[in-house]
Amino acid sequence: MALKLYNTLTRSLQEFKPADGDTVRMYSCGPTVYNFVHIGNLRTFTFQDILRRYLGHEGWKLRHVMNITDVDDKIIANAMAAGQTIQEYTAKYRKAFEEDCAAVRLETPEKITPATEYIPQMIDLIKKIEAKGCTYESDGSTYFRIAGFEDYGKLSRIDAKGMKAGARVDNDEYEKDNARDFALWKGAKPGEPAWDSPFGPGRPGWHIECSAMAVAELGDTFDIHTGGVDLTFPHHENEIAQSEAASGKPFVRFWVHGEHLLVEGQKMSKSLGNFYTLRDLLAKGYSAASIRYLLSTTPHRKQLNFTFDGLRGAQAAIERLRNFKRRLETEQFPEGASAAAAERATRAIREFEAGLDDDLNTAQAVAALFEYVRDVNSAIDTGEFRQDDAAEAGRALAVFDSIFDVLNPDSGTAATTDGDPAGSARPSGEEIEALIAKRAEARKSRDFALADQIRDEVQARGVVLEDTRAGVSWHYADQ
Ligand code: AMP
Ligand code: ZN
Repeated sequence: MALKLYNTLTRSLQEFKPADGDTVRMYSCGPTVYNFVHIGNLRTFTFQDILRRYLGHEGWKLRHVMNITDVDDKIIANAMAAGQTIQEYTAKYRKAFEEDCAAVRLETPEKITPATEYIPQMIDLIKKIEAKGCTYESDGSTYFRIAGFEDYGKLSRIDAKGMKAGARVDNDEYEKDNARDFALWKGAKPGEPAWDSPFGPGRPGWHIECSAMAVAELGDTFDIHTGGVDLTFPHHENEIAQSEAASGKPFVRFWVHGEHLLVEGQKMSKSLGNFYTLRDLLAKGYSAASIRYLLSTTPHRKQLNFTFDGLRGAQAAIERLRNFKRRLETEQFPEGASAAAAERATRAIREFEAGLDDDLNTAQAVAALFEYVRDVNSAIDTGEFRQDDAAEAGRALAVFDSIFDVLNPDSGTAATTDGDPAGSARPSGEEIEALIAKRAEARKSRDFALADQIRDEVQARGVVLEDTRAGVSWHYADQ
């Protein structure tokens, strides 16, 4: 078992092990909390979750750090327009982010902190960069002089040589094809939040946040840095420049970037009417588990084309797996164990891991699981599958679910912040799964009256249950 990851820095697949052979030190750029996260953001956070879970599965300890960007140009503009402080303005979206992550079962990083709690560390880092001669001051702001850092461009491979001397930007985000000096510390402007510093009153630029937090929490050099591809330039390039100029050491060993999510083949945008938050999809009755499944089963280095058909397919896939799990738990099989079944379960786990070892090829891993489910279902049908084999099969399912985490139905995952209706009267996928499980229990204990009552209740709420040979499947009556 050996995980290989594609490293943007070297443009190659490399076997990954933590530098100290024990704990993976990993940093992920977190959300900018000026709005609810959209499903594109969640795709990136979900791939990071799959990565951290698989690293844990491989036996490494984890020290995963994520920032919450709670001060930047957009936040300041929106907060000022709303007549609020940035703390007041961002509080709601920070809470919403936590709720959304919990709904799609993202494990919480070991450290997740708002950037504004790291202002002293940012100031320290700028002082170090200044001491190396890589800064200059202009109009009350302090800039990073990229001509002073020889390796500038090594991650994105942008050519900084043709840059016009002194060309600089104040915006946190700027053109993708243009290397510029960028602001480390922006001079205070009237009405904007500001902190005292040796460079005058002001606020940090976006890029310095991540460098300062990462280095403070993980050291000058750490194992993995993740984010969406759009962050490669200028954000990650600038993180490298700042951190390496200050320390003189390599900043990150592995840069792992996730491709974007498109909706029906197009870039998601509010003006195209194809922009979805998690809350939008939950309100339409889709389950959080189906969203997690859809986001995680396209390997992170491929673009993911989100469609509603795909989402319904994800729900159907989860149902097949949950039906299978229920079948293992509730059916009676002939006594004993079969060597073939044990061997098949072991092979399923091996193939599942082989998929993930290959740069987190989640599609391959899931395909291995479905092949296994098909084989076991037919072994059950032919009577070859024995009672003790169910435990082996359960073990294979548990390995799958320790990474993908979609098998356990849970209710109450619907997000609630800000009065966004989390769902219509009809039950969520999780609630339906829970009711199906309750009905299966009732049948098992021969309480058929209760079983029928549950079915009637679910149907009255617009859900059709179908009893099939492989278990119970369901769909919304209007889908
Ligand atoms: P932001 O809150 O804009 O800083 O973005 C948070 C994360 O979401 C970053 O890692 C972005 O690269 C990522 N991201 C933004 N848009 C998309 C998208 N359409 N698909 C996948 N990831 C995205
Ligand atoms: Zn960052």
